[in-house]
Order: sequence, then C-alpha cells, then structure tokens
Amino acid sequence: MRKAIVVGTGAGGATAARELQGAFEVTVLEEGHNFKPLAFEIETIERIKKSHLVFDPGLVHFVFPNMRIRKTADKMVLVNGVGLGGTTTLSAGNALRMDGVLQALGINLDPEFEEVYREIPVSTCHQKKWHKYTRQLFHICEEMNLDPVPALKLGNYERCLHCGHCILGCKQGIKWDSRQYLKEALDKGATLVTGARVERVLIKAGEVTGVETREGLSHHFYPADLVVLAAGGLGTPVILQNSGIVCEPRLFVDPVLCVAAEIPRNWQCKETTMPFVVQREGYILSPYFDFVSYLFNKDWKYPASDILGVMIKLADQETGAISKGHLEKSLTWQDNVKLLEGVELCQEILAHLGIKKDKTFLGTLNAGHPGGMLPLTKEEATTFHARRLPGNLYIADSTLFPQSLGNPPILTIVALSKRVSRVCIQNLAMAI
Ligand SMILES: Cc1cc2nc3c(=O)[nH]c(=O)nc-3n(C[C@H](O)[C@H](O)[C@H](O)COP(=O)(O)OP(=O)(O)OC[C@H]3O[C@@H](n4cnc5c(N)ncnc54)[C@H](O)[C@@H]3O)c2cc1C
Repeated sequence: MRKAIVVGTGAGGATAARELQGAFEVTVLEEGHNFKPLAFEIETIERIKKSHLVFDPGLVHFVFPNMRIRKTADKMVLVNGVGLGGTTTLSAGNALRMDGVLQALGINLDPEFEEVYREIPVSTCHQKKWHKYTRQLFHICEEMNLDPVPALKLGNYERCLHCGHCILGCKQGIKWDSRQYLKEALDKGATLVTGARVERVLIKAGEVTGVETREGLSHHFYPADLVVLAAGGLGTPVILQNSGIVCEPRLFVDPVLCVAAEIPRNWQCKETTMPFVVQREGYILSPYFDFVSYLFNKDWKYPASDILGVMIKLADQETGAISKGHLEKSLTWQDNVKLLEGVELCQEILAHLGIKKDKTFLGTLNAGHPGGMLPLTKEEATTFHARRLPGNLYIADSTLFPQSLGNPPILTIVALSKRVSRVCIQNLAMAI
C-alpha cells in the first residue's frame, strides 16, 4: 500500500489521517505530545498572576505546555496549541459553518458538512444553564437589534459544568476536539509519531520523496508517496518555505480584543466560553472572559470573579507573513476602524448594565485563527492543489483559505480537509 505522511493532529491533520488511512498507510507526525488540560482552578491562576512569575505571554508554556504564545512587533499575541489535537483542544468549542469564502471560489462542501454533522455532535443546549449576566447580555443585544444567536458547540454540552475552562482544555471531556478523529485513524491502523517536528519536505524531480523531522537532537527521514501538511496557519507556511516553496504574504489571524468592566461577583470566568455570538459586518461580538488579558495585562487588576468582558473578533485584512523565526503582522487602517467600531458597540452594550464608558478597559490584542499563506484560487477549486506544489504534496488546513473567516474555523477546516483527502485518494492512492 502507498505511504502517506500527515503533518499535525489539529482540525486539518486528524481529519486527513482519518480519511486517508486505509487508502494509504498513514503515518502522522506531530511536533508535540499528549494534551493535558490546565489543572489549575481560577484561584490558582489568580495566585500565578499575583506572583508575577509568568510576566510574559511567551512564558505561558512553562505553566501550560500545550499552549504556545508568540508576539508580533506590535505586541499582538498569537495563541496556538501544540500537541495531540492541535489548537482544537484550546478552542471555545464553537461549531460554525463558515465556507462563504470557499463558495465564492466555486467550491461546494455540502457533502462534507453533512458528514461532519453526522460525526460530531453539535448543539446549543448549554443555553439552558446560562448564568444571570449571560442572559442579561443576551437580552440587551436583542433589545439593541443585534440578533444574538446562542453559539452552536462541538460536543455533548448537556453535561457542561460551566466551569469556564473551555480554552484551557475541557476537563470533563465533553468538548469535541480532533483527538477523536485521530483516535479513529489510529484504530484503523495509522501510525503516530509524537515529538517529531517536520522541518521540510524533500523534493526530487518535481515530486516529494518524504519529510525530514527533528526529534530531540536527531534528524529523521520518513519516505512517502503523499505528504499532507496540516501544521496550522503558522506551521504549514514555515515547512513550505524551508522546502523552497514560496508562500504569499497574506497571513490573517482574526484578532480578538476584549472590552471589559468590573462587575462584582459576576463570575463570567466560570461560564461556558462564548455562549452567544452577534454577527456584524467584518467582526463578531461574544461574551468572553479573556485569560490571556487576565494573566498578562496590567489593566486587568480586578479579581477574576469581578471581570465581565465582551470580545470583538475581527476579520482582518490579509497582510502578514511568517517565515522561520520571524512573524510579521500589523493591523491596517481599515482593521483599526472596524475594531474601534466594535469597541464602541461593546461599550454601548455594557452601558445597558450601568457601566460608564470611562469605567471600561481593553484587553490585550490576541489572535488564534491564522491562515491564508497559500490561498486557493478559482482555478484550484477542483484540484485543491497549487501549481507551485509538487504533484504529491497537499495542504489541508487554513493556509488554503483565501481570506479571513472572522469566525471560528474548525468545522470549515474539517470539511475542507475531508475534500482534500478525497482528491488525494482519487489522484494518488491507485497510481503505480
Ligand atoms: C483560544 C482559542 C480558541 C478557539 N476557539 C475556537 C472555536 O471555538 N471554534 C473554532 O472553530 N475555532 C476556534 N479556534 C481556532 C481553531 O482552534 C484553529 O483554527 C484550528 O484548530 C486550526 O486547525 P489546524 O489543523 O489548521 O491547526 P492546529 O489545530 O493548530 O493543528 C496544527 C498541529 O500541527 C502541529 N505542528 C505544527 N508545526 C508542526 C511541525 N513543524 N511538525 C509537526 N507538527 C507540527 C501542532 O502541534 C498542532 O498539533 C480557537 C483558537 C484559539 C487559540
């Protein structure tokens, strides 16, 4: 049987491994190791904050090894997951179909989404146990004609304890993450190698022969007939560039900015993360206790129980780039205009809770939906393959998105990865 390498175990990688195993003999290469939710309760997180020991976001992995944070020159922080399940383990569990930008290229992922909805439970049942302030915020948004919608969540949220730890790893195991697909791939016979950081793909006579990894101090070569890169929007472009394949400086990241206020004992930090969503032109709003700002932003000086925040998640313009060790991403003038519009709207929402504008404070600009550095074009709407790639090298993550979704991308990445896998099977599984 032909050999396929899948790089990464997040939304794109775990899906590809599950789809390809059987048609190929799949080996999954993952830089990180097992995922463990952050064990600390909010009281311990509070003590860590007060100790000032973890003073820089870049040090977060000492406390939480599965979380990586990098900073841009403009002090925006980019968050991603490392280890089994990739960033899906840190997600807020939102399950939105957001493939409009792909439909615009002529790509119809209806069959893949139908499959996804059969395989992954999705519901809004967390709404039944919303806290008082969540319900109040929802009604305020309704009164302001903002059309708030309870967020569809990945997993069986009937059992959600509203502990507020969604993005720190779900200790109850109710939130779906891509480790479930990965397990199915392994049950079907795929091989997993952890601690294997893929440095580059090796190309000979226009075809990929395999990948080179760094594992501890040693380097390894894994031969392959097919390589599928799904190392995420920040990981895949680095592997491509290390392999001599040029990417586009079109990185988007979906920046998040929280507008917060002090409301004693509101306990948003122990509520389901992002319980509802308001869709606006170019951004979304959602109630959000921002742990990154809470830990690292000096303006977030109140006890966690007393901070209530609303996030703006922006569909930013595609103007950044990452290469080995270097990350460039700044907000454009248009991005800042949209962000300011969002801030004012959040302040208006909070004003309905009796909070004056000058009593609100902002969070740290952070982002966790990177992608766009080898975007699909209309010409590639059926091949899912850029001409500059060797024939047996495919990408199955948000690197392929032509622009920011400004919205949670997991479901769309999963559907896209299913289609890419299908194309690979059609084109390569039977070839001699
Ligand atoms: C705090 C937070 C909350 C979020 N909430 C949501 C949400 O509610 N809903 C939603 O849809 N999206 C959410 N997202 C975004 C979503 O989690 C990601 O967009 C999605 O997981 C990306 O999938 P991926 O497969 O492209 O990459 P990832 O899930 O990041 O997986 C990439 C994998 O590749 C591995 N890797 C990287 N480089 C290498 C290498 N060189 N060699 C080997 N392995 C490598 C990584 O360790 C990782 O396992 C959230 C993101 C963050 C940060």
